[in-house]
Amino acid sequence: MRITKVDEWIFDFDYANDILLEHFKTKTLKGFGVENLTTGKVAAGVVLNYLKETQKGKLDHLNKIANYNPSDYMMLDASTRRNLEISFTMQEGKREGSLISILDNTETAMGGRLLKKWITAPLRKLEPILQRQESIEEFFKNKKLRENLKNELKEIGDIERLISKVCTGRANPRELVNLKTSLKKIPLLKQLLDQADSNNIKKINKRLNDLENIVEKLETAISDSPPLSITDGGIIREGYNPELDEIRDISSNAKTWIANMQKDERERSKIPSLKVSFNRVFGYYIEISNTHRDKIPENYIRKQTLVSSERYITPELKVYEEKILNAQENISNLEYNLFNEIRNYVAAETEAIQENAKLIAMLDTYLSFAECADDYNYVKPEVNETDKIEIVNGRHPVVEQILSHGDKFTPNDCNLSNDDTQIVVLTGPNMAGKSVYLRQVGLLVLLAQIGSFVPAESASIGLIDRIYTRVGASDNITAGESTFLVEMQEAANILNNATSKSLILFDEIGRGTSTFDGISIAWSITEYLHENPNVAAKTLFATHYHELNEMAELFPRIKNYKVDVREYGDKVIFLHKVSEGGADHSYGIQVAQMAGLPLFVVNRAKEILINLEGKELTPYEFKKAKLEKNKNEDDKQFSLFEVKDDSIRKEISDISIINLTPMEALNKLNTLKDKIDKDKVK
Ligand code: ADP
Repeated sequence: MRITKVDEWIFDFDYANDILLEHFKTKTLKGFGVENLTTGKVAAGVVLNYLKETQKGKLDHLNKIANYNPSDYMMLDASTRRNLEISFTMQEGKREGSLISILDNTETAMGGRLLKKWITAPLRKLEPILQRQESIEEFFKNKKLRENLKNELKEIGDIERLISKVCTGRANPRELVNLKTSLKKIPLLKQLLDQADSNNIKKINKRLNDLENIVEKLETAISDSPPLSITDGGIIREGYNPELDEIRDISSNAKTWIANMQKDERERSKIPSLKVSFNRVFGYYIEISNTHRDKIPENYIRKQTLVSSERYITPELKVYEEKILNAQENISNLEYNLFNEIRNYVAAETEAIQENAKLIAMLDTYLSFAECADDYNYVKPEVNETDKIEIVNGRHPVVEQILSHGDKFTPNDCNLSNDDTQIVVLTGPNMAGKSVYLRQVGLLVLLAQIGSFVPAESASIGLIDRIYTRVGASDNITAGESTFLVEMQEAANILNNATSKSLILFDEIGRGTSTFDGISIAWSITEYLHENPNVAAKTLFATHYHELNEMAELFPRIKNYKVDVREYGDKVIFLHKVSEGGADHSYGIQVAQMAGLPLFVVNRAKEILINLEGKELTPYEFKKAKLEKNKNEDDKQFSLFEVKDDSIRKEISDISIINLTPMEALNKLNTLKDKIDKDKVK
């Protein structure tokens, strides 16, 4: 990170205010709606001051200041952006496989940037969301119009960047040609947009300005394929400037001019051997052999005498010589000046050009969302101000695209509501599809609040103020954040900031510590979210602690859901289907077996599991056990290796060895062994 320190006085309100007023050439900032934002004005003034110092005053393209109100946008913190894989995948940090890679079908660089901005700043107010939906729907329904518009957009350059280069005096001739070709497309766009019914699109069409004057200027002034450099000439088109045309004419017609002069002078002087030539020392001269000395015209000025001839110049020849010799330089200088003039002419229309860039970016983004919706079978969600999220047959936008052939994505419903199903405890074994489901719900809400259509059969989304995500420590090791402390910090952040309008996605919590610690923490976090009205956010909690299923019996707005699996012999088959109810066990051992753990380990794990399940402690029982701890010290601990029903052990301890004959002892041993063998068969 680079840090530039600025003096304290720059943060002075009056200084900042003045610098803003001076830049925007206004008396107040009322017109921008930021007059009363004292701290905001200081911040803007400081930034502007920095830009003025570093950009050497060329900031004409910054012609507006607006209030960015965070409450208009859904804030997505870094970990949520990462967990939902919005711009990059979590594992490899690649764009491929991220949400953007699926959604971005934009044709222009401006559209690409805007799409990214929209995705990372979903809206929180209903009205602008509905407006976007209306525009997207127009292009969703009208495929022909969409395709035609997209074809035109393909040839539009990055007007936004181009105009900022024009303003800072950095645009080269080719960039002006690019700007021209891009602006030339606007009348075509307008024509196509005339077919649209959407009010929002009509408004855009009205605001698009075809800037004929700029296009015409550039068309007449700049040649079709000018060089990159602005100092070497070759930029300005013929016919634009008479003076330039003349110098160019001289330069390219020098030979003909000399030949013509020679012819004229021969005729005039009647000296057939008269020659017009050039050398480096004298420049252009007229050479006449001594035999014709008597016929030398009057205006000839002698310059040099040779053995058999003399060399002369004339004032006309010298003027011409000057023009030829300086022609190249004059051409370059004149072209440079003309180019700057043209660039300034374009810069004078900065605002209108920027507005066009903005509108084109919007069109491009709407078209992109519409195409995606059409290609991938999305529907327009109903977005409203209720406290409900209802999704029928929702799909994960990315996973459904990248599943390998043959694997079909299993759609799933989601029903969350603050007064009924506020918290869903989602259980199911590893690999069942819990994470995918959680992210799917998060992404659908996010898409709906961007204004996009969503991958589902239908969806009704009550506006969310923020999406929080927390992904199990073990899933996040690549980011170097595997410690339990980080996990708890993230959970703390959520519990301290969530509101009843938020959506929380907990993908495992408390896994980074011992089982009992983990269950206890998970339980109490869930309880807190249920019991504290200020943070009673809609929550999806994926966990493999199926002990948490007990909570649904104690808390009315907690519901149990599970991701279904089917047991098939020793194996489990993942159905990826979310249904009501809790998973009764974790199938961890089956998954371990499928992963290829040695059979001995798998079988031994099964034995230990049976023992553990006999003494399983849910948090409530755990508490009870703690209370009883003093009463019965022996209950304090249990061993993983203790055998459940140990009649054999009892029998052995009952034997009085002193009273046994060797034969009896052998028989006893035999009986015991028989019993063990029988147990094994069972
Ligand atoms: P969990 O979080 O339960 O361990 P994941 O959500 O990571 O499991 O899912 C594991 C894999 O199962 C995913 O990588 C995906 O390939 C597949 N999967 C998950 N959900 C679905 C679904 N709804 N339809 C098809 N495949 C799915």
